[in-house]
Amino acid sequence: MLSRAEALALDASDPLAPFSKHFLLPQGIVYLDGNSLGALPLATSDRLVQLVRKQWGGALIGGWTTHDWLTLPRRVGDKIGRLIGADTGQVLVADSTSINLLKLLAGAVELQAPRSVILSQDGNFPTDLYIAQGLAALSGHRCRLRTVNPSEICAAIDAETAVVLLTEVDYRNGARLDMAAITACAHERGALILWDLAHSAGALPVALDACAVDLAVGCGYKYLNGGPGAPAFLYVAHALQPRLRPFLTGWLGHAEPFAFEADYRPAAGIERFLCGTPSILSLVALECGVDLLLEAPMDAIRHKSLALGDLFIDLVEGARLDFALASPREGEGRGSQVCLRHPQGYAIIQALTRRGVIGDFRSPDVLRFGFAPLYNRYTDIWDAVAALTAVMDAAEWDRPEFMRRQSVT
Ligand SMILES: *Cc1c(COP(=O)(O)O)cnc(C)c1O
Repeated sequence: MLSRAEALALDASDPLAPFSKHFLLPQGIVYLDGNSLGALPLATSDRLVQLVRKQWGGALIGGWTTHDWLTLPRRVGDKIGRLIGADTGQVLVADSTSINLLKLLAGAVELQAPRSVILSQDGNFPTDLYIAQGLAALSGHRCRLRTVNPSEICAAIDAETAVVLLTEVDYRNGARLDMAAITACAHERGALILWDLAHSAGALPVALDACAVDLAVGCGYKYLNGGPGAPAFLYVAHALQPRLRPFLTGWLGHAEPFAFEADYRPAAGIERFLCGTPSILSLVALECGVDLLLEAPMDAIRHKSLALGDLFIDLVEGARLDFALASPREGEGRGSQVCLRHPQGYAIIQALTRRGVIGDFRSPDVLRFGFAPLYNRYTDIWDAVAALTAVMDAAEWDRPEFMRRQSVT
């Protein structure tokens, strides 16, 4: 088993190690929850102070033009596009992931009539399923949601399938679906595909254009380090843009918002998927996170992410702790997280937090550890498993205070 000295040596030769000094991370904390809320890039706080004082304070309403605020959704979208294999003009930053799901699903279902099924995976992230259910109700049940085991997706796509809605990396076990193969399969059978990249963007290479993906959405506050509640992004392939009717027909998606016409006409390009006025403070914070990621080669990010995951699994197995591995053992089948299962998972995560190791818990029994290669070190993994071993060996988790559930787990 790898010693701590060997982990230190891996850190010393890690090409991504210099990135960690660009983040503000509290001393003595091992942060393995960047898959829920990414850490704060140092540049973000300076940039926000400058934005607030100089741009908002100094330029007031003029900021929309002198500081180009209005084009930020598209500009930051194009930058995210570089992280997910999308050529310019196809990615837009707007709203939340949930709302973007509704916007794109509604357009896809309308376009695909009379096909009426939204096909998704069992155990998909709840908001994806809830939004599809809400859309079914809103449409007077002209469409409906069907879910199947992820391994049966391709076989389940049929002539009724309007759109296949999948999350590439499963939030609960980190398992990764084969985007190229499933997308091809959907297209062969006449369905559109919508990928949720919440746990992919910024964590692993994604090739939306090369896979001929139709639609995608993803989060700004996870691996993109955009800050709590950061705006989300959406992707609509060029070919589909003129055909997909915007569902939320707000004024900023109009062809000429400042003509103030009485009737809605969609903008020609990706801007048609804007709805209302974007949050400029949040957009600029997100841009800082994205800029930092763009400086690191995505292949190096993926390589280190898998190395951290493999090391975590090796150390946990070597310590002979009483956990079941919930994630695929082989890196290729994983995203950037490793999940363990234990009936006392919640209390164990609380006890670990007391030791300064932050992961998170997902009902019913999953302990989740996310790896952010820009700021997590090999020694972090070593220290995390040492803390986990201590918590288990002395049953430190077995205290009433660690059993009480908080509102955010
Ligand atoms: C985190 C996550 C979301 C979050 O949606 P919000 O609208 O930002 O709250 C959506 N989908 C998946 C798969 C997620 O993991």
